[in-house]
Amino acid sequence: MEYYALEMTLNDWQILFADWGEQKFRASQVCQWIYSKKEFNYHLMSNLSKDLREKLNDNILMSLPIMLRQQVSKDGTRKYLWSLNDGARVESVLLNHGGHKTACISSQAGCPLGCTFCETGANGFTRNLTRGEILGQFLMMEKINGADINNIVFMGMGEPLLNEDNVFSAIRSLNDKNMRNLGARHITVSTSGIVPGIEDLADFEIPIRLSLSLHAPNDELRSRLMPVNKQYPLQSLVNALRRYRERTGERITIEYALIDRVNDSPEYAYETAALLDGLEPYINLIPFNPIPSRPELKRSDSSRIKAFCNALTELKIEFELRKERGTDIMAACGQLASTRV
Ligand code: SAH
Ligand code: SF4
Repeated sequence: MEYYALEMTLNDWQILFADWGEQKFRASQVCQWIYSKKEFNYHLMSNLSKDLREKLNDNILMSLPIMLRQQVSKDGTRKYLWSLNDGARVESVLLNHGGHKTACISSQAGCPLGCTFCETGANGFTRNLTRGEILGQFLMMEKINGADINNIVFMGMGEPLLNEDNVFSAIRSLNDKNMRNLGARHITVSTSGIVPGIEDLADFEIPIRLSLSLHAPNDELRSRLMPVNKQYPLQSLVNALRRYRERTGERITIEYALIDRVNDSPEYAYETAALLDGLEPYINLIPFNPIPSRPELKRSDSSRIKAFCNALTELKIEFELRKERGTDIMAACGQLASTRV
């Protein structure tokens, strides 16, 4: 049996070390090297015996995503293209706001959900990422940049709640005090509205943040933009959000991309408010980012954006108009597609 370092939970390391006749705390030491110090070379793990280092080197593969390309946007956003073990490719983005770094990570190679406004969706689906491939993107970005990243958002390629086991396992290791020790409030999962996954998140032991990609407040329009809405229509989705809110007490962020004359008239703001009544949502308005596969979709112009914002203000709904980031290198929301090299 082959072992891959990043595929192993702390518990897996402890079981293995017990098997090898090593003391339990050695497992935490190895995890500290990997997750905290970003030391991926066993030979340099200086507080382990030479024998143990060699045994690790011979038995546990330190498989990491290979960086094929790094692009830097004029606003400082960085985009990485990785090659995984089987040659599958994914992208991740590193955002920098005033010294605070946020990693936007992929959970799948491609995405099976095919939202009409999203380049990732237009490029089809290859496979789920393993927990190690998810963690690898984050750790490699920390290693390359020589700095800790403050936040992680599952807003790269793919639908995280269609790859729940691996995403949840990666989150447990990011949060674990003996591993990366990243606080729950610094971890966000974004979903297109996978109801069973939202229900599982409501019961998840780590109180991470939830973001919902809404983009349309009625089933007719939403099903056209996001085919997943046919499987989980708005009523079931809103019920799941309410349950999540009741069980966790957390506010939910709602993502809403403003697409010119598709979903950006003020009536939709009113409809959104009615749909989410009582949920106290926080709305993130994203000016639509153009994508090559759908040239007919345009970003709303500033007067339409303003009208939408005014309607939300009038409705006393808290919102933020998200600043454009990384569009010049196709690193913005919905623009990730691993096939472009
Ligand atoms: N699959 C998950 C995670 C990806 S997050 C989800 O959809 O939530 C990527 C975010 O960018 C989502 O909110 C998505 O709806 C949004 N998005 C996709 N294409 C976009 C585009 N062209 N412009 C702006 N936002 C877009
Ligand atoms: Fe998939 Fe999210 Fe893109 Fe939709 S918006 S296709 S769910 S990645």
